[in-house]
Amino acid sequence: MTQVTVRAPAKINLHLGVGGLRPDGKHALATVYQAVGLYDDVTAVEAESWSVGLTEPVDGVPLDDDNIALRAGRALAAHHGLDRAARITIAKGIPVMGGMAGGSADAAATLLALDRLWDLQTSDDDLLRIAGTLGSDVPFALLGGTALGTGHGEIVTPVEDTSSVWWVVVLSDEGLSTPAVYGHFDELSPDAPAEPPVPDALIAALAGGCPEEIGDLLANDLWPAARDLRPDLVDVEVTLRSMAPDGVLLSGSGPTLLVLHEDVDEARTTVAELTAQGYRCTLAPGPVAGAHVVTYA
Ligand code: ATP
Repeated sequence: MTQVTVRAPAKINLHLGVGGLRPDGKHALATVYQAVGLYDDVTAVEAESWSVGLTEPVDGVPLDDDNIALRAGRALAAHHGLDRAARITIAKGIPVMGGMAGGSADAAATLLALDRLWDLQTSDDDLLRIAGTLGSDVPFALLGGTALGTGHGEIVTPVEDTSSVWWVVVLSDEGLSTPAVYGHFDELSPDAPAEPPVPDALIAALAGGCPEEIGDLLANDLWPAARDLRPDLVDVEVTLRSMAPDGVLLSGSGPTLLVLHEDVDEARTTVAELTAQGYRCTLAPGPVAGAHVVTYA
């Protein structure tokens, strides 16, 4: 085999419960992830030295050792004691700095692509463990579907989700820094609990699969911090809530906003209305599968 392409999905957080800042600089999370149908495709080819590129230029994606895909490749090689390298090429379909974990998707896709390219047969447990050392959202990008995330998000447990929904994804022209949002959360929430509670009601609603019940239970503790840092989001939120009072959500640390729909035609109508008002938006189904191989050569 000379090349492997893996597709990995964006994530949203149906619930994002954030704990107080810990001495190690991290936050305990109790989150419910859902993988949604916006994807990055990552192609790995054996090479003399490590490098990363994009199929098309995209602002904000580092093309040096800061790229998390390269960190993932090196971590997998180190885990197996291999002195090998690869050229990683990314086709980005996930917004950059949008709160949809595009970098994490690339890391997960790289782990899987190199595991297959080099026929390493890494166990699922080891892949998830290596993923967790790369970033909180990376294990979930491997798993996909809908899952509870605990620890700082890296401990993922699948949850039953019988829903099948459409998210209107409202994009922002400017990214929002995840560390900045968490930093402001710390200022706004000095009394946040050490361990945020697991959202049992949402987990029960997902098993039932009723989008209206799920819509009522969407929650994100980072909303106040994101609104402060990006006051322009407040107007967008007001517009979206006038269309779907209970199905509006900030994606992760933002600035992407989401509107839940059960029916794809209604979702398309919302996209058309928002587009006519000048918003940039797209549609994504959820839940979808985690990182998976799409082509071998
Ligand atoms: P986070 O996953 O930290 O919540 P996000 O989902 O909002 O972030 P990403 O698109 O993952 O946004 O980008 C976060 C940061 O990671 C950016 O500063 C970006 O420069 C950096 N980065 C590193 N590697 C990648 C990559 N392969 N794709 C996108 N961004 C990357």
